[in-house]
Amino acid sequence: MNVEAYLEKIKKHIPEIDVQFAFEQTSKGAILIDIREKDEVKQGSPEAALQIPKGLLEMQIMNETSNSEQHIFLLCASGRRSLVAASNLKAMGYENVFSVKGGFKEWKNQVLPVTVPKMLDEDKAERYKRHLLIPELGEKGQLKLLESKALIVGAGGIGSPVALYLAAAGVGTIGIIDNDVVDRTNLQRQILHTEATVNTPKVESAKKTLRQLNSDITINTYNERLTKDNVEEIMSGYDIVLDGTDNFNTRYLINDACVKLKIPNVHGSVFRFEGQVAVFWPAYAAEETPCYRCLYPTPPPAEFAPSCAEAGVLGVLPGVVGVLCATEAIKILAEFGKPMLKKLLVYNALDSEFFTYDIEKRPDCTYCNCDDVSHYPDYQNIDSLCAV
Ligand SMILES: [Zn+2]
Repeated sequence: MNVEAYLEKIKKHIPEIDVQFAFEQTSKGAILIDIREKDEVKQGSPEAALQIPKGLLEMQIMNETSNSEQHIFLLCASGRRSLVAASNLKAMGYENVFSVKGGFKEWKNQVLPVTVPKMLDEDKAERYKRHLLIPELGEKGQLKLLESKALIVGAGGIGSPVALYLAAAGVGTIGIIDNDVVDRTNLQRQILHTEATVNTPKVESAKKTLRQLNSDITINTYNERLTKDNVEEIMSGYDIVLDGTDNFNTRYLINDACVKLKIPNVHGSVFRFEGQVAVFWPAYAAEETPCYRCLYPTPPPAEFAPSCAEAGVLGVLPGVVGVLCATEAIKILAEFGKPMLKKLLVYNALDSEFFTYDIEKRPDCTYCNCDDVSHYPDYQNIDSLCAV
């Protein structure tokens, strides 16, 4: 059998559609996939199309839709490769797969909308190759990370691994706020800092370390306290906030600003051998989720909430917690997996156990369930960030 005969055979069970019909249907829920190779697509692709090269189609289609009745239109350069690819998808169980007749050549002839898709350059494709190999993340997720902005509050024990892993993952802009200087007692756990940066501002020390790890990303530093007067100005424009602070008042302030600005708040905390992680995001559209005040409506008495400086902490513990926080942030920013919402994850290092507790939005929450979230209550004792 020659190629032409093979294509004719496929046409008997794969319908062909014209470009105009494909264009109209994509605005009505059909998925249009440009299956050409990267080199072909970088000059332009149909505006509403996903770009998945033919060789990856079978693996990646399941991330786009698991609905076997979904209308899927495949487009290549001239409408030949798309026939073969459509036949493969049909064999996988997708019932409504079509090949776009004439392909991208015809799309351009009909002057239909074309866009130049965002793609990783060779340097970044190499650097983040291990991410690109994961279908759930891939080039699309990596591009999102590179365009993302994360604010880390506290360059301490939790903020250190968070910052390092976000920088390593290629989060394009990392903001760090901390008004403290590096102390020798920090080096037991705050792995952003070194003996050489003792007595220098933590944000400068952090920037130096992160710059060595990834010179491509933007690092914004804020060598100041977070207060109700500057919180919105600093947080605005960030896609996510990571709270690695060590006192309830700052956590409430971070929570309240995140609720108001609708920013997800990844929270980590530690006490001696125990760590906690949760994601608070009341603006999450898919379901009702709690804020930090839903979990802790009032701060515990000071004697029950001593700081690390008072109570001590196992140095590696904020590392575990920070890595879990960084994982949640990367999932949210690259849009894969399910964020740790409505859950409190507790890690006990002494017993080597993880526990997960369900947490709900409180109907009587004084903040996220209040009609007016424009105000900031009084926060006492925010003298410093007291990063863990
Ligand atoms: Zn709440």
